[in-house]
Amino acid sequence: MARRNASGPRPRPDVLVVGGGLIGLLTARELALAGARVEVVDDRQEGAASPNAAGMIAPIAESIADQAFARLSIRSRDLWRDLAPTLERESGTSIDYDDSGSLLPVLDPEGRKVLDRIRARALDLGEAARDLDRAELAELVPDLRPGIEEALLLPGEHRVDNRLAATAAAAALRQRNVVLHRATVQRVVEASGEVVTSGNGFECAAGAVVVCGGAWTPQVHGLPALPIVPVKGQMIAFDRVDWPFTGAIRTPAFYAVRRAGGRLLIGASVEHAGFDLSLSDEVGADLATGAAALLPTLKDREPVEHWAGLRPGTPDPWPIVGRLSERLHVAAGHFRNGILLAPLTARMIAPLVLDQQPGDPRLAIPEVMHPGRFAAGERLSS
Ligand SMILES: Cc1cc2nc3c(=O)[nH]c(=O)nc-3n(C[C@H](O)[C@H](O)[C@H](O)COP(=O)(O)OP(=O)(O)OC[C@H]3O[C@@H](n4cnc5c(N)ncnc54)[C@H](O)[C@@H]3O)c2cc1C
Repeated sequence: MARRNASGPRPRPDVLVVGGGLIGLLTARELALAGARVEVVDDRQEGAASPNAAGMIAPIAESIADQAFARLSIRSRDLWRDLAPTLERESGTSIDYDDSGSLLPVLDPEGRKVLDRIRARALDLGEAARDLDRAELAELVPDLRPGIEEALLLPGEHRVDNRLAATAAAAALRQRNVVLHRATVQRVVEASGEVVTSGNGFECAAGAVVVCGGAWTPQVHGLPALPIVPVKGQMIAFDRVDWPFTGAIRTPAFYAVRRAGGRLLIGASVEHAGFDLSLSDEVGADLATGAAALLPTLKDREPVEHWAGLRPGTPDPWPIVGRLSERLHVAAGHFRNGILLAPLTARMIAPLVLDQQPGDPRLAIPEVMHPGRFAAGERLSS
C-alpha cells in the first residue's frame, strides 16, 4: 500500500527503526541486507549513549558475574571482527577498530585474586589470557607508574571509536538508500496490518516497527511498560598520549581507552540522576586523579574534553530484545555493553522482525532478553 508519509508520497517501508544509536543503525543495516525496505527516525538526543561511550568490546572483563553473558558477548565480538572492515568498506571511512586487547594491571594482593578469577574465566571460555611481566609492560605502556610489576592481557578484547562507528553505520545505510529522518516519535499504534508512528510533524506507516530508543525508549506512547532507566556516565579525555599499546587499560576504579591520534579516554562514573546531563567538576577531578595515580605523566595535564552520556539500564544485566506485539519490536536496555552487543543484537532481532528463522541457531534471542520477563508495570526508580 502506498501511503503519504510526512516527507512526501513514497512506498510504505517494510520496517521503521525508531532510534539511530548504534543498536538502531546496525539493526536497520541487517534488515536492509535481508532485502527489507527500511527507514530510520532519530531525534539526536544530547547524551545518547552511542556517541558518548568508551567503545570497549570487552566480553571477558565486563562479564564478571555471568558466563552466559560472556558467551553471547564473545559471539558479538566475533561479529565485530568481520563487521569492522565491512563497515569501513561500505562507508569509506575508518572506525579506528583495534584488537590489541585489554590490559589489567595487578595493583595489590586483592587485585591479583580478582585477576586470577578473570584469567580462569577467560580460559574456561576458550579465550586467551596472558601474564605480562614488568619488562613487557614497560614496553607497552612506558608511562605506567613504577611498582606495578605485572598485568593480565586479554588479547580477545577489542575497542572501536564508537563515534566513528555510528557515523560509518549511518553512511553505510545511506549508500543503501535507507532514509534517515530527524524527528521525535511520540506514539506508535498498531492496527490493520501496519504500525503508524507519529510525533512532531512526522508520520509513518510501516509494516513493522523496531524501537531502539536507548534510555528514552519508555517515553514512546503505545508501548507496554518497559523498565529501562537512564544511568549517567561522565568521562574525560586527554590528548598527546603515544605509548605503543593502543587498547584499553582497566582497573577496578576506572578504565583508560586509546583512540587513534593520541587521545586517551578515561571513564566512567555511574550515576542514577534521571536525564540530568550536567557535568560535575568533582567527578572530572576524581577521574583525572585516579588516572594520574596509574599514569603519572597525566598529572599536570588538563583534560581536553569532559562529557556525559546516558546508558539504558534494566533491572537485570540483560538488554530487552524481542517482540512486543505482532508488528512491534524492541531492542534497547543494553546498559554498559551496547557497543559490544550491537552486532549480535542486530543479527538477532532482524530475522524476528521479518518473520524469518535465524540462519544460525546461535542467533536465536535467548529467553533472558525477552521483553516478557518483567511483570507488567514493573519500573526501576531512577
Ligand atoms: C559513559 C559511557 C561509556 C560506555 N562505554 C561502553 C563501552 O565501552 N562498551 C560498550 O559496549 N558500551 C558502552 N556504553 C554503553 C553503550 O554506549 C550503550 O549501551 C549503547 O550505546 C546503547 O545504544 P542504543 O542505540 O540502544 O542507545 P543510544 O545510543 O542512546 O541511541 C538511542 C537513540 O534513539 C534516539 N531516540 C530515542 N527516543 C526516540 C524517539 N522517541 N524518537 C526518535 N528518536 C529517538 C535518541 O536520540 C538516540 O539517538 C557506555 C555508555 C556510556 C554512557
